[in-house]
Amino acid sequence: MRISMVATPIWAMKTPPLTTAYLTAWLKQHGHDVFQLDWNIELHHNASVALKEYWDRTHLHQWQNAEQYRDEVAPRITLPTIDSYAERILAHDPQLVGISTYSIEATMHMARVLKSMNPKLTIVVGGQVCDPGFYGYKLAWCDDIDLVVHGEGEGPLLEIVETLEAGSQDFSHIKGLLIPRGPGQAEDTGLRPPIADINGFPWPDFEDLPMDYYTVSEDAPYEPSRAVSSLMARGCVRKCDFCLQAEIWQNFRYRDAQSIYDEMASYKERYGLTNFHFNDLLINGSVRQLDRLCTLLIDQPLDMPWGGNAIVSRTLKKPLLEKMRAAGCEFLGYGFESFSTPVLHAMGKKYDAGEVSRLLQDMHDVGMRFFSNLIIGHPAEGRREFAETIQFLIEHAHLFTEAPTSSLLIVQKNTPIWRAREHWGIEMNEGDALGWWLKDRHNTLAERKHRAQVMNFFYESLFDVGLKITDMDTEKDLTLGAGDVIPRTAQAN
Ligand code: SF4
Repeated sequence: MRISMVATPIWAMKTPPLTTAYLTAWLKQHGHDVFQLDWNIELHHNASVALKEYWDRTHLHQWQNAEQYRDEVAPRITLPTIDSYAERILAHDPQLVGISTYSIEATMHMARVLKSMNPKLTIVVGGQVCDPGFYGYKLAWCDDIDLVVHGEGEGPLLEIVETLEAGSQDFSHIKGLLIPRGPGQAEDTGLRPPIADINGFPWPDFEDLPMDYYTVSEDAPYEPSRAVSSLMARGCVRKCDFCLQAEIWQNFRYRDAQSIYDEMASYKERYGLTNFHFNDLLINGSVRQLDRLCTLLIDQPLDMPWGGNAIVSRTLKKPLLEKMRAAGCEFLGYGFESFSTPVLHAMGKKYDAGEVSRLLQDMHDVGMRFFSNLIIGHPAEGRREFAETIQFLIEHAHLFTEAPTSSLLIVQKNTPIWRAREHWGIEMNEGDALGWWLKDRHNTLAERKHRAQVMNFFYESLFDVGLKITDMDTEKDLTLGAGDVIPRTAQAN
């Protein structure tokens, strides 16, 4: 079958989009003729310097909120050229277009344009925000989308293609779908067991993609990043109570280290890479695999720095960090979330504040950069626990290579904390995952924003920067603006 795969904005600019690259490779492996377009990076590349600002994550709400997208983002960024991109997608003469989404307004916009040009097209949308607890239903209720895939995409997408090839439009036997059933209605075909052996997946396919457009530069001339990303594994070994990833991926599966090494070497050769990024939820889910990969990279160096996300763990100690450093690991990303042990335990983290303290010192000793995130306002976080986090920051600020970003806790549908609403006394309005409160009227959104203001005050003296609030799943602007921050004189009092 002829298929077009499209990555929609906004998404990262540093490396080619992995979802479409994996699915393109998978479909080609099964004999299909696939064209791939990264609409996101082409828009970014062609945007003026001023408009490139919109790719900063703090602007995500402008892409997510329907009115702001329609009135602000579309007229400036997508609308002027969307027809020409749609024509390129359709020039491949696809029977099916697969769209990878993150911020859904641009995705629905593209689906609308494609359907208006070719009403017979089957449009399938997938991505982590397609979970039924996230934006899945909203996408399924959009008239121009035929199917929404939730969870791992390979299995459902292939079965959709095979169903179409058999001349059928009945997809109800395929697990992992939301099937539109009229206005405001959709059928969830249920969770699909993930494919057990991920060593059978082909490496991501970056053909068709403009490799010179991917960049980390924030200023002109936007030098190419010469980087690609890949996955060492799928899923996570933890089940933190605020996180939907365990629901999406269901279990943790990891690849052979030799295959990962071969992939890195092959892409370095082919694309002249100067660095490599693992997009995994964590790269230390299997210490054995990580250790073996490091051995390979030390024995046969690729001279290509790499990095990825990691979890705090008793197994991530100085000897392993030193080995990772020797193997070319330059940076790690951590979701610390809190530095209060009771809060960490309530979240389901398997470590305490002392373990983080030890890790920070080890990271400092081996000289490895890291990014990190904190979450403000877990129901287990009272004023005492919040103060513990601030105190920890004061004591350890010198060990951070970057100021942690922060999020306000979101009670996302289908997460463990959402299921435990009664236990925590959480109350919320339908569809407002950000604005929840506790029955005793504590821990309201206003209080969480207030805590962010307090943290911001400390950030300025500890890190010389303000607190950057990032949230992937809100239509609201959480940037601490002038109106949000307590005046300095009032703070001093
Ligand atoms: S927050 Fe991170 S460590 Fe926890 S379940 Fe989600 S991906 Fe895994």
